[in-house]
Amino acid sequence: MTQAVSILGATGSIGQSTLKVLEQHPDQYSVFAVSAYSRLDELLFICKKFHPKIVVVPKEKASELHQLFKNENLNQIEILTDESGLITIAEHADVDIVMAAIVGAAGLLPTLAAVKAGKRVLLANKESLVMSGDIMMQAARDHNALLLPVDSEHNAIFQSLPHNYLSAERTGQPQLGVSGILLTASGGPFLNHTLEQLNEVTPQQACKHPNWSMGQKISVDSATLMNKGLELIEACHLFSISEHFVTIVVHPQSIIHSMVQYVDGSTLAQMGNPDMCTPIAHALAWPERLSTHVPALNLFETAQLNFQSPDNVKFPALNLARQAMRVGGLAPTILNAANEIAVDAFLKQRIKFTQITQVVENTLQLIQNAKAESIDIILHTDMIARRVAEKYIADIGG
Ligand code: NAD
Ligand code: MG
Repeated sequence: MTQAVSILGATGSIGQSTLKVLEQHPDQYSVFAVSAYSRLDELLFICKKFHPKIVVVPKEKASELHQLFKNENLNQIEILTDESGLITIAEHADVDIVMAAIVGAAGLLPTLAAVKAGKRVLLANKESLVMSGDIMMQAARDHNALLLPVDSEHNAIFQSLPHNYLSAERTGQPQLGVSGILLTASGGPFLNHTLEQLNEVTPQQACKHPNWSMGQKISVDSATLMNKGLELIEACHLFSISEHFVTIVVHPQSIIHSMVQYVDGSTLAQMGNPDMCTPIAHALAWPERLSTHVPALNLFETAQLNFQSPDNVKFPALNLARQAMRVGGLAPTILNAANEIAVDAFLKQRIKFTQITQVVENTLQLIQNAKAESIDIILHTDMIARRVAEKYIADIGG
């Protein structure tokens, strides 16, 4: 029997890497359902190769896809639409594993649905956990879901923690002899830029990451270091640890994917070539291991591993995220929503690179924080924060 996998966001960078891993293990996994937001050509290619039972697309794309399926004799594939379709393939009784690889807040409800259905959920969509932290983690415990980190840093931390860490008490304090986490950051494409240079960078430059090939939004986040800010919040929730136990370490080679420190003076690291197929394979098969095409690390070729502390003045996103986590409540939701709007405005060349974090900071200041009591409150706040961020962007001429 193969394990059935639903891939939310199959046409994206993580979705494609997931398919690449699954393709190598047809005896162990089958693709049950896939979703795509755009790029029907790519979706069609996936369908011809993997024969999913269900696909999910936006409603306005359904008739075009239907026609494409007809031309290719793929009529047996069921087409569902929009968020309700995503939720259906996330919680479907025939599904064992859900890859949450939609980008941004759009992934929240489908990811939560998979968690509530008690699936093995491979979490790439960090924004959903940043928004819904405690609620998502509580739902995982209540419904016996296995929420496994795909983000390379969190996957590395998970691999370096004691094996029974996930079931340890959730106190905010490190448990089982752990004393802290070192969250590594490549520093992005502008690590050595001056503030003046940062003012002038283009979306094209921001999307060219030195070590990883990723979707546009996370590429910009990596350049502002907001990605590391979101990952700080992600780590606090996944591993139930207060933010002051997480230290951010800039490590430009992206060979060490993060580290865990212990009370006896040990530091455990997970290392490897920077390829998302490794953490994806790990999360798919854990506690077992799955082969991938990723070559073993050749330490003789890896000349140097460098480390430095981040520049919080050039990259204010780090402190904004840390502060949002410290304050808690709806602050991370506001931070995330404002960032999504600001990144989109930067990609459309409406604002400058350095204005992205200004939009986030301003939005955080303007919206009153409160407890993140329910998903409805979180979604409502997300909507308000988007409006406030949009207005600020318009006010500054974007
Ligand atoms: P991407 O832009 O390449 O792909 C995003 C996917 O989501 C696509 O399939 C797209 O069709 C779909 N999508 C986009 N907007 C949508 C919407 N409104 N509704 C439904 N579907 C929508 O992004 P990516 O780089 O694959 O990243 C996906 C997630 O994984 C992000 O949360 C990112 O932070 C996280 N992640 C990515 C990497 C990486 O190396 N790419 C690493 C770690 C974490
Ligand atoms: Mg990461």
